[in-house]
Amino acid sequence: MLLACPDCGTAQQLPAMRGRGKLLCCRCENTLERSTGRSTDVALALAVATFLLLFPANLMPLLRVSIDGISRSSRLGSGVVGMWTEGWLLLAIVVGLQGIILPFFRFGMLSSVLAAIHFRRHEPWMGRVFRWAEHLDLWAMPDVYLIGAVIGYSRVAAKMPMHIGPGGWCLIGAAAFSMLTRAMLDRRAVWHLIAKPTPPPDHGVACVACDLILPQATEGGRCPRCHATVHRRRPWSLMRASALVTAGYLLYPVANWFPMSIDFQLGELKRHTIASGVAQLLSAGLWPLAMVIFTASIAIPLLKLIGMTWLIWSARHRSSRRLVLKTRLYRVIKEIGRWSNIDVFTISIFLPLMQFSGLVSVQAAKGAPAFLAVIVLTMLAAHVFDPRLIWDAVR
Ligand SMILES: [Zn+2]
Ligand SMILES: [Zn+2]
Repeated sequence: MLLACPDCGTAQQLPAMRGRGKLLCCRCENTLERSTGRSTDVALALAVATFLLLFPANLMPLLRVSIDGISRSSRLGSGVVGMWTEGWLLLAIVVGLQGIILPFFRFGMLSSVLAAIHFRRHEPWMGRVFRWAEHLDLWAMPDVYLIGAVIGYSRVAAKMPMHIGPGGWCLIGAAAFSMLTRAMLDRRAVWHLIAKPTPPPDHGVACVACDLILPQATEGGRCPRCHATVHRRRPWSLMRASALVTAGYLLYPVANWFPMSIDFQLGELKRHTIASGVAQLLSAGLWPLAMVIFTASIAIPLLKLIGMTWLIWSARHRSSRRLVLKTRLYRVIKEIGRWSNIDVFTISIFLPLMQFSGLVSVQAAKGAPAFLAVIVLTMLAAHVFDPRLIWDAVR
């Protein structure tokens, strides 16, 4: 199979795989092909299961709290509605998209493409829809939402009796299936099944969305397989990534200094910053959760900003040192970014449950939208950055 490595742009012919193992890019050591236990039909079953479980996970009660014989329940959307009514519109929109709406799109589109492949259909929409489903993989977060819910649950469970509702069990199932779908999905095999690549007359441009190698003349036009615009390098990549990273640096201290949530407990006002949230979890003896929040909310965003700065600097100065390490760092930054959302999701679960008790009124605070902006900006920076620019230093 002839393809261009999406990370370093090197065109290479992959031999057919026999047995178990993986094929690495000859230049940047990116895993191009893996033959261990991946199957399009299993991925289809898992994607459909995830999609179906998302309905009860959203419609049925997630958690149930009972105080003095009165029981109240919260649904996945309760936190989003709470944020909206308190006036945190941006927060509500982003959390609502990532936690509720985009998962439906991601798994609905993925299921339809995989089903079409299963029934050996060749429809013109398949490439475009699969490209969008792949884009949404980073932005649709039922798995991250679940970890946020677990942390929210442990914070509230210490204060009041709580039960997991049917919606909660469905969310656990949906999150598990969504992670399994990612593990089972062989995206390159799917692209191959959507349309087989034909060797172009010249080694021209590669489509970053589906790794297809196209003739030079295609540049600026549409990829025939996935309908993405084909560029030799992503346009204005360094400028756009630098602007997004700079905005991230400006908002990072704001996100850490201002409280993420405020609560009024028995007439007393308490502010919770990310750091004080970590300290609170530590003092409650929940140190594994404290570690998760510290890593996801404080360490990873900062390391991502520093890492992106190094990558942009190297590409700009055409530095030819440690290219494999830098490419590997880029992949980690791209993969890990979504997990930083845990704390925001925790608040959205935590918020309605605490308000049920009547004693405590919890509100999202200034730090939360700033924090969310840092996460979204760094994710976008990794998205617009073209890793092939790092390798241009040795071309
Ligand atoms: Zn490569
Ligand atoms: Zn393409």
